[in-house]
Amino acid sequence: MRIGAHVSIAGGMDLAIDRGIELGCEAIQVFTKNNNQWRAAPLTDEVVARFHAKLRASPLHPVVAHAAYLINLATSDDALWKKSIESFEGELERCDRLKIRYMVVHPGSHMGAGEEVGIRRVAEALTQIYDRRGFEVVTCLEHTAGQGNHLGYTLEHLAAIRDRVTPRNRVGVCLDTCHLFAAGMDFRKPEAYVSLMQRIDDVLGLAQIKCIHLNDSKTPLGSRVDRHEHIGKGRIGRAGFGHWLNDPRWTELPGLIETPTDPTISYERRNLAVLRRLRKAPASAV
Ligand code: ZN
Ligand code: MN
Ligand code: MN
Repeated sequence: MRIGAHVSIAGGMDLAIDRGIELGCEAIQVFTKNNNQWRAAPLTDEVVARFHAKLRASPLHPVVAHAAYLINLATSDDALWKKSIESFEGELERCDRLKIRYMVVHPGSHMGAGEEVGIRRVAEALTQIYDRRGFEVVTCLEHTAGQGNHLGYTLEHLAAIRDRVTPRNRVGVCLDTCHLFAAGMDFRKPEAYVSLMQRIDDVLGLAQIKCIHLNDSKTPLGSRVDRHEHIGKGRIGRAGFGHWLNDPRWTELPGLIETPTDPTISYERRNLAVLRRLRKAPASAV
């Protein structure tokens, strides 16, 4: 697995690349704009050129984008749905200009309308967006912990959305170890990991997984509460991460931390170092 981190874009998109290099990342994740605002200043050609130049000269790949948290493609509230579509479309456009191939988005909340309705809304939104604009970037639906009315806490939700989007090859999946665990999917023991991979393959197909978020969980298995913890310090524990890191099927995939941060980046350094050590060890011995 290509180990990396979600890095800040404060001060300019290209600074994210510097931050990734400073941390020794092999891949990074970024927001393409302020993640808790609807509006975004347009990307200038100069910023795009600087981003490309730095990326070309760096060992980082891939760069993954994460959509703003305000976006809710699952809602039945027409005003919010339209606003979400418009905003997400803008983010996909930014990805294409920056040559970012994967955009991770949470399926969203059905806000009481029911899961089936929510699933249809997400699929309809993505179909409209890709129909209007032939974006290159692949939207990766992130599996979620299942808080409140949020969709995506079962693998079947993600498969159902993907099945209804045209073109289907523009939709992939992002798995988050914390979310899988909080949603009740265990992978701490080798046998549990093997059977979970079999289930993911049966429901989604392993080829649909484009990105993995490596976060430990503060909350227990099946809690449906999404609280990220430092690697090895939560309920998952180090061994659980070893299985993912040493699985040859994930060699080329980005494995990105979204663990708690601090101003001196010492938390990130420590979490990345733990992952690198686990990757070198055989899965059975960790
Ligand atoms: Zn996410
Ligand atoms: Mn995540
Ligand atoms: Mn989370």
